[in-house]
Amino acid sequence: MHSKKYLARQKRRIEERIKRCENVVRGRRLDASLKAEKVLPSQRMALSLLKSGKYGICIACGESISPERLEFVPAALRCVPCQTDAEK
Ligand SMILES: [Zn+2]
Repeated sequence: MHSKKYLARQKRRIEERIKRCENVVRGRRLDASLKAEKVLPSQRMALSLLKSGKYGICIACGESISPERLEFVPAALRCVPCQTDAEK
């Protein structure tokens, strides 16, 4: 289980990323905007998982996502093997 402090920190980091993406979407650069629009749904989903206490659990296999991965990608929804599968 993650500590409340850790979850609060990750929530802030995800919210910051969502805000940044929303700004890019509103911006003039179409290529960047399309990219940002693509990642927004997963970031929002990570946020809702965090609120429902399921943060850090892979949505594909139900295993815990490694802390290193969550540190690097706070809005990660899948563990590394499942993410690799999803991208194939
Ligand atoms: Zn998984």
